[in-house]
Amino acid sequence: MKVLVLNCGSSSLKYQLMNMEDESSLAKGLVERIGIDGAFLEHEPAEGEEVTIENEIPDHSVAIKMVIDALLDDAHGVIDDMDEISAVGHRVVHGGEEFSDSVLIDDEVYDAIDGVKDLAPLHNPPNLLGIEVSQELMPETPDVAVFDTAFHQTMPAKSYLYALPYEWYKEHDVRRYGFHGTSHKYVSQRAAELLDKPIEDLKIITCHLGNGASVAAIDGGKVVDTSMGLTPLEGLVMGTRCGDIDPAIVPFMMEKEDLSPAEIDNILNKESGVAGISGVSSDFRDLEEAAQEGNERAKVAIDVFCQRVKKYIGSYSAALGGVDVVVFTAGIGENAIGIRAEILEDLAYLGFTLDEEKNDVRGEESIITTDNSDNIAMVIPTNEELVIARDTKRLVIKA
Ligand code: ADP
Repeated sequence: MKVLVLNCGSSSLKYQLMNMEDESSLAKGLVERIGIDGAFLEHEPAEGEEVTIENEIPDHSVAIKMVIDALLDDAHGVIDDMDEISAVGHRVVHGGEEFSDSVLIDDEVYDAIDGVKDLAPLHNPPNLLGIEVSQELMPETPDVAVFDTAFHQTMPAKSYLYALPYEWYKEHDVRRYGFHGTSHKYVSQRAAELLDKPIEDLKIITCHLGNGASVAAIDGGKVVDTSMGLTPLEGLVMGTRCGDIDPAIVPFMMEKEDLSPAEIDNILNKESGVAGISGVSSDFRDLEEAAQEGNERAKVAIDVFCQRVKKYIGSYSAALGGVDVVVFTAGIGENAIGIRAEILEDLAYLGFTLDEEKNDVRGEESIITTDNSDNIAMVIPTNEELVIARDTKRLVIKA
């Protein structure tokens, strides 16, 4: 069974074709600058050379057609017929309270996703567009939606409710939802597998540290708390997002600088985080380099980032009543050796003893605490596409 995984953004699209007999990737790629000048598709077959195809790509329909053409191409394709694609798994960012699991898409599900688009106005509309185009181009092929929010739906009310008027929750759905759910799910389950322990027996804190970053507290395989909230702006300090701040800063700065709601929203999402503090970059490779060269703002930006992660691990260990495993994943978590060290150095009180030699890894599954450390810290590269493909297969077979 071959599953096409689609992740549609407003002007970009990522895809991967998975062979679910052995869970291998047959090809992957991305389309960038959809609807903008200079659009291109980058296609990478598992075996063979990567190709870049430049073309006018006015909309998602053309983009998905190009993806299918690339998969079928004589030279760099990996299938002979479109019918070989048994199902399409779509990443959908927001499922609101409606979806606590992935779901086979029908008209009702489509309307329900459309119904929560206010909660993710930048993400759900392109996700829906991907579903529409896929149904248009492959009407006989089942589509499955896999939500970033679903894994977090096990959170109890004491974790998801904000201390705001209750009517805001009831009437406007204002509550914590959490994101990166597929990643937190994958790495927590993989941690249990690698440690050869039932996940039911483990208290795990997963740190997804990428451009967007979030932490989840997972007890026995179920999320009890997570750092992102109504939107992906809350929680950790990120590349360009501020994470937790005093909410009073918002009206204060709107008044001081005469900012509209859209302007302040843009600043908090795109001009803050480590980029905002450092004035250097949102990319940790640039920040580490600048810090080494003596740039004080880059150094303090890294410290603020690590301090926030440490505080979340501490508070989630309180929420869980202890912690057995901390997992690092995503771009920074998988690759930034110094950042992991800075975070773990101060967590000895929680039973984590860093092994500097073992921590000297990038992008590989590994334990990075010493053999006699009371608790375990690990690096596990995330694989959201695999979770999407697995859920798609499960639901299509069940139907
Ligand atoms: P997203 O999927 O949210 O765009 P990723 O998970 O790909 O983000 O993470 C991207 C970030 O990972 C980069 O912005 C960079 O900060 C960080 N990163 C990637 N490689 C390294 C590395 N070798 N050292 C330090 N940071 C890295």
